[in-house]
Amino acid sequence: MIKKRIYLSAPHMSGKEIRYINEAFRSNWIAPLGPNVDAFESEFANYVGVNEAVAVSSGTAAIHLALSLLDVKKGDKVFCSTLTFVASANPILYQGAEPVFIDSEPETWNMSPEALERAFHDAVLEGRLPKAVIVVNLYGQSAKMDEIVTMCNHYDVPIIEDAAESLGSTYRGKMSGTFGKFGVFSFNGNKIITTSGGGMLISNDIDAIKNARFLATQARDPALHYQHSRIGFNYRLSNILAGVGRAQLTVLEDRVAARRKVFQKYYEKLYNLPGVKFMPELENTISNRWLTAIIIDEKKAELSVMSLLQKLADENIEARPVWKPLHLQPLFEGNRYYPHNVDGSVSDGLFRNGICLPSGSNLTDEDQIRVVNSILQIFKVPV
Ligand SMILES: *Cc1c(COP(=O)(O)O)cnc(C)c1O
Repeated sequence: MIKKRIYLSAPHMSGKEIRYINEAFRSNWIAPLGPNVDAFESEFANYVGVNEAVAVSSGTAAIHLALSLLDVKKGDKVFCSTLTFVASANPILYQGAEPVFIDSEPETWNMSPEALERAFHDAVLEGRLPKAVIVVNLYGQSAKMDEIVTMCNHYDVPIIEDAAESLGSTYRGKMSGTFGKFGVFSFNGNKIITTSGGGMLISNDIDAIKNARFLATQARDPALHYQHSRIGFNYRLSNILAGVGRAQLTVLEDRVAARRKVFQKYYEKLYNLPGVKFMPELENTISNRWLTAIIIDEKKAELSVMSLLQKLADENIEARPVWKPLHLQPLFEGNRYYPHNVDGSVSDGLFRNGICLPSGSNLTDEDQIRVVNSILQIFKVPV
């Protein structure tokens, strides 16, 4: 008998979404934009504590708009975390610019300030600073923002904080995603809250977000006839999906609590296994624990990551390797890479040894126990 599938991170509706959708239908605000979009933007900006937000069709679109606003173009360099989903860097290529990848450090698995410093040092020697730095907060854990912000301010290079995975997390009490010139969020189906697809670009620079709104609606000049002076995009979120987002935002704190509970339970049941380590949480930060990630020392565990993934798949449990670092991707062959230590890459090891466990906020206790027991059995621990 095939067992029920347990997903890595399934959408989790609150039940309140339908009210907002019905209201959009009742008023025929199906498109374009509309009151849900305006409200979602202001409620979101309020929640994270910034001046302005623009709702867009995806997190990828939000990164693209940020790069476009910073005038990133052909011949420019952009520094970017290597240990991330490809969407963090694809927009660099859309702009014809050159990504330079920065390794992770072990305490957050995110951008290494040491590697970043070396990249800046070389950029200065070459007389060409990057136009922007894209910092990713992996699986909900904030990067070392104090160090990174200080360094980027020193070189006067703006930060785009890719907080697609870290909505609801905090760093020294301040919301993740609010540390750069721009912050980016995603409401893709697997994220901590979802609109089925969507994203948000935020900033304290009100004019910049006004400009983003303009670029995201085909950059139409203020004239009655259709006039355009620069490249625009069709990136706005629909009024129906923004309604879903408004409802989801009201349960964000519950979602964070639920995912942290999932992490805690895995930790209690599995921390003792030989060769198993959990993704750390940096002091003075709270991770939303979007995904519970562990690393496995194959020698101590006497088990390979690949066979663990395969055995979980046989149980119809969806677990995944940690993101394959971008500097190892065929797409970015030839792009420059700065490892954490001159002679050692941290992200390579996290990729080789890391796996993400089913972590949905709607993962039931029963299903989580099934995952735990499967892992214990694979480790040959009597359950
Ligand atoms: C999901 C994700 C994105 C892209 O968001 P989409 O809404 O799917 O375009 C970008 N960066 C990271 C780190 C992500 O996890």
